[in-house]
Amino acid sequence: MRVLIVESSPLYREILQQSFNRFRGVDFVLSATRMEALAEAAAQMPDFVVISGQLSDSDGVSLGRQLRCDGLVPIAPIVLLTGSPSAEMAMDAERAGITEIFRKQDLDELVAFSRHFLDAQQPLRCRILYVEDAPEQRLALAAQLREWGAEVDAFASADEAWPAFLRADYDLVVTDIVLGGHMTGSRLINRIRRQSAPKGEIPIVALTAFDTPQRRVELFHLGIDDYVAKPVFPVELRARISNLVARERAEERSHKLLQATELGVTVVDEEGFVLSMDHNAASMFGIAGDPGGRNFANFLMNERDGAKCMESLCWLIGEQDIQRLRFTGRRVDGRVFPLQLSSLEIEPADGGRRFALLTRDVSDEQALADQLEVARDSAARLGRMKSELLANVSHEILTPLNAIVGMSFLLKQRGLTGDAREQVEHIDAAGHRLVGLIDEILDFSKLESGKLELESVPVSIDSLLAGVAAAVENRAAGKGLSFRVEAVALPSDLLGDPVRLSQALLNYASNAVKFTERGSVTLSASVIEDSESFCQLRFEVRDTGIGIAPEYLYSIFDSFCQADGSSTRRYGGTGLGLAITRELVGLMGGEVGVTSTPGTGSTFWFVVKLARAGVPCAALPAPVELPLDDIAWHFAGKRLLLVDDDQVNREVALAMLAGTGLQVDMAENGLEAVRAVRERDYAAVLMDVQMPYMDGMQATRLIRTMPDRAGLPVIAVTANAFEGDRQRCFDAGMNDFIPKPIQARVLHSVLLRWLRIGRKATGHPLARTFLSEI
Ligand code: ADP
Repeated sequence: MRVLIVESSPLYREILQQSFNRFRGVDFVLSATRMEALAEAAAQMPDFVVISGQLSDSDGVSLGRQLRCDGLVPIAPIVLLTGSPSAEMAMDAERAGITEIFRKQDLDELVAFSRHFLDAQQPLRCRILYVEDAPEQRLALAAQLREWGAEVDAFASADEAWPAFLRADYDLVVTDIVLGGHMTGSRLINRIRRQSAPKGEIPIVALTAFDTPQRRVELFHLGIDDYVAKPVFPVELRARISNLVARERAEERSHKLLQATELGVTVVDEEGFVLSMDHNAASMFGIAGDPGGRNFANFLMNERDGAKCMESLCWLIGEQDIQRLRFTGRRVDGRVFPLQLSSLEIEPADGGRRFALLTRDVSDEQALADQLEVARDSAARLGRMKSELLANVSHEILTPLNAIVGMSFLLKQRGLTGDAREQVEHIDAAGHRLVGLIDEILDFSKLESGKLELESVPVSIDSLLAGVAAAVENRAAGKGLSFRVEAVALPSDLLGDPVRLSQALLNYASNAVKFTERGSVTLSASVIEDSESFCQLRFEVRDTGIGIAPEYLYSIFDSFCQADGSSTRRYGGTGLGLAITRELVGLMGGEVGVTSTPGTGSTFWFVVKLARAGVPCAALPAPVELPLDDIAWHFAGKRLLLVDDDQVNREVALAMLAGTGLQVDMAENGLEAVRAVRERDYAAVLMDVQMPYMDGMQATRLIRTMPDRAGLPVIAVTANAFEGDRQRCFDAGMNDFIPKPIQARVLHSVLLRWLRIGRKATGHPLARTFLSEI
């Protein structure tokens, strides 16, 4: 294509050239003046002309007029570019034959216009059925259309053309109206339009010599798409053909796109009767042939009665633009499938309302959702099974551990000496390691299932640091490490969960001692931010130990992660401690972190925000120093019932109670316990939970129904270590909870408390927080 640009400013000429450069196959002819432009137009016959509104030797409109008048540019578009077109100039330009005026600042519009023009200049690339009975006209026009790139089947009559139309696929029909033979052009158009889509919807251009307004209206009623009066001006026909073909192609493209979306389109009237259905919808509902006359409600499943379906359909189409409702679709062969349905009102063609119902078969999505549901259920079931397994396994491990830890405690009390003492101490340490391990696994499982809840009670950071220090100091000293606690003055009105805070810090501190062979371990707490409502604290444990290689640092807080697989064997451990710390601190809304240099040492830290109570928290009750002596002093001779099915555990408990002066009766299961309680008046009952014949819960429930036994202190002693177990004991009417393996100090303290409360207890868990206090 040749573009003539007439512009005096070299810079703007360059800009225009650049704008056109985005099209392929464009040659430029550049002129700066009217005179140059006239000479170039005469020599080059441009296909497109762009003229500046103001030239050095003329104005653009006059040049345009002259190009048209002199026949230099008879048909090609001439566009004018101007700064600000006035109404007068627009009128003048139109009279001069200028196609369009663009503002210089709206070059994009000029480019869009040119693109459209260029598209129309492309080879026609379509197949045309052409009917014309005048032989010269037929030959000449067919030849011209072929030259423009079209494939043309030309016929002298409609009778000959009709079978060809039925046989082949055409993009367009161009037909004369007045034809010799049986079939006129009008009849041909009529027959074409009676065909079903897509054949019946082919674009038709009519050619006729009798060009009156009435005639044109008639032809449009017949169903033509466009009209050209004879004698045919080929360039005009070409413009009309490209227009129709371009529109047809655009429609085909959207049709293909729609088909690719697998979205079915059904057009219905306001009562739901199907007017048309596209290929996707027809195959979705299994319809072969014409779907007309059916009601769309028939494609929806309704188990109860058809009327309901009709109602919901009418509601659906009455409501405009309903989006993605779920129905059960029904194919004509009776098979059902999950269906997503949207509706929108479309242009009414004959006064009545029409709706497009867009349907999608969502079987695949549904199947995926079902699979997910099954997977979720089985994950939940597995989770429950895992919890049950953990509960059972830990119960089974803790019961013999109770015997091991209890017996070694009793042996140590006997004042053994020499090798025997050392060996018992090894047994005791091993037992406690196992208890710690089980605690860690249970905590991890609780955190993993989101079942761990934090307390918010007064917490003294000083006592917390002291407690953690006391727990690791001896081990540090044993390795020859210096152990320090650094803490500035800390607020005394903080609220938090002291047990879990200690646990987080203790994990760090134990690791620091474990992984340090020489040097020091330092524990510190400092205030980062302090306000009236909260205080942000940073806890830190620094050591001069083996350190951690950089590649392990980013994952060291992940569960089961150990910096070096071989450390498991050298130092032991599960790789759960840091993961538990991270989860606990996360639950408190805080953050954890570590910096470390291999061979030099590590600093593990966490930051938490603790609420401030506003008033200093009351000092914690002074720990009971010698509960055993207190029991012996105040309650010797009182009678206690000890219920446990395991003989060794009974012996352990009995031995721990030896110095109390209490008279201890024993029962081996719930049944025996109930009988004993009915017959005797006890000061308290120590009740195992899992026992044969009747468990501790059932026994307690029965005890609570007895007259005068509502206030009898019943204390659960159990290896059931889950949070829910504790609650279940309280729900069954027990007053307190001692976990196995029993620690003598805990047993004595709890017992002393309940002996003191005595019959005033009402079966309520008065001492729920008691364990955390001792
Ligand atoms: P465990 O100590 O039971 O293996 P942790 O989660 O507490 O589990 O620690 C995970 C790993 O992190 C340890 O095995 C060790 O490799 C590394 N680690 C933790 N603390 C330290 C430390 N203070 N110095 C060196 N390595 C450490």
